[in-house]
Amino acid sequence: MAYKTKPQKTDVVIIGAGASGAAAAKVLCEAGVKVVALEKGPWRKKESFGGDELANINRYNLWPDPILNPRTWRETETDETRSEMFCPVPQMVGGGTVHWQGWLPRFTPNDFRLRTVVGDLPGTTLADWPITYDELEPYYTRVEWAFGVSGQAGANAAEGPRSKGYPCPPLPLPPLGGWPGFRPGGGGGSVGPLCGWWFFWDPYRWCCRRSTRNWCGR
Ligand SMILES: Cc1cc2nc3c(=O)[nH]c(=O)nc-3n(C[C@H](O)[C@H](O)[C@H](O)COP(=O)(O)OP(=O)(O)OC[C@H]3O[C@@H](n4cnc5c(N)ncnc54)[C@H](O)[C@@H]3O)c2cc1C
Repeated sequence: MAYKTKPQKTDVVIIGAGASGAAAAKVLCEAGVKVVALEKGPWRKKESFGGDELANINRYNLWPDPILNPRTWRETETDETRSEMFCPVPQMVGGGTVHWQGWLPRFTPNDFRLRTVVGDLPGTTLADWPITYDELEPYYTRVEWAFGVSGQAGANAAEGPRSKGYPCPPLPLPPLGGWPGFRPGGGGGSVGPLCGWWFFWDPYRWCCRRSTRNWCGR
C-alpha cells in the first residue's frame, strides 16, 4: 500500500470554490500566495452535466438533496424551523457559476445607499453599504474583463460611471428589440433587452457572460 504524503503547507485555505472562493483563489495565487481550496463537489464533467430538468431539479443533480442536507428557515427566533424542498444552492466545483444565467449587471450607485435614498422603512433594518459604488468600480471592471462580459456601456440609464467599457460587444437584439419608446422615464430607447421581464422594465442590451467574440479561448 502506498503511503500518502503529507499535504504541502499552505498559506490560505478556502472552503468552497464557488464564485467568491475561486475568484479569491485566483487573485491570491497571482499574488504568489499558496492557496488550497476545499470543495464539497462534485466536479461535474460533460457526462454528468446537461439540460436534463428532471435530473437537475427533481433529482438534485445541481444542488443538495434537501432530505440529506436540509435547508431550514424561520421568520422569527421563536418560530418552528421549516424545511425548504426547493433549494437551488449550488453544490459543485465552480458553485453557482456552473449553471447560472451569466447576467452580470453592476449595482447602481444608489443601490449602495438605499437607506439614504428611501429613508426609514418601518419594520426593516435597511442600511447603506459601508462602501460606495466609486470604491467598487475598479473591481467591477476587473471582473468584467476577466470574464469577457458582453454589453453596451451606458445603455443602462441607471448605470454609474465606468472607467472602461465592456470587453465584448453586446449580444444581438432579439426580434422585438427594436420596439421604440418602451423605456420608462422616456429614455426613448430603441434598443431591446436580452430576454425576460427586463424588457418591460428597462429595455437595453443586458450585460452577459456570453462572449460575443473569442475571449481568452472561450
Ligand atoms: C439558478 C441560478 C442562476 C443564477 N444566475 C445568476 C446570474 O445570471 N447572474 C448573477 O450575478 N448571479 C446569478 N446567480 C447567483 C450566483 O450564482 C451566486 O450569487 C454566486 O454563485 C454566489 O457565489 P458564492 O461564492 O457566494 O457561492 P457559490 O457559488 O454557491 O459557492 C459556494 C461553494 O461552496 C461549496 N460548498 C458548500 N458547502 C461546502 C462545504 N461544507 N465544504 C466545502 N465546500 C462547500 C459549494 O459546492 C460551492 O461550490 C444564480 C444562482 C442560481 C442558483
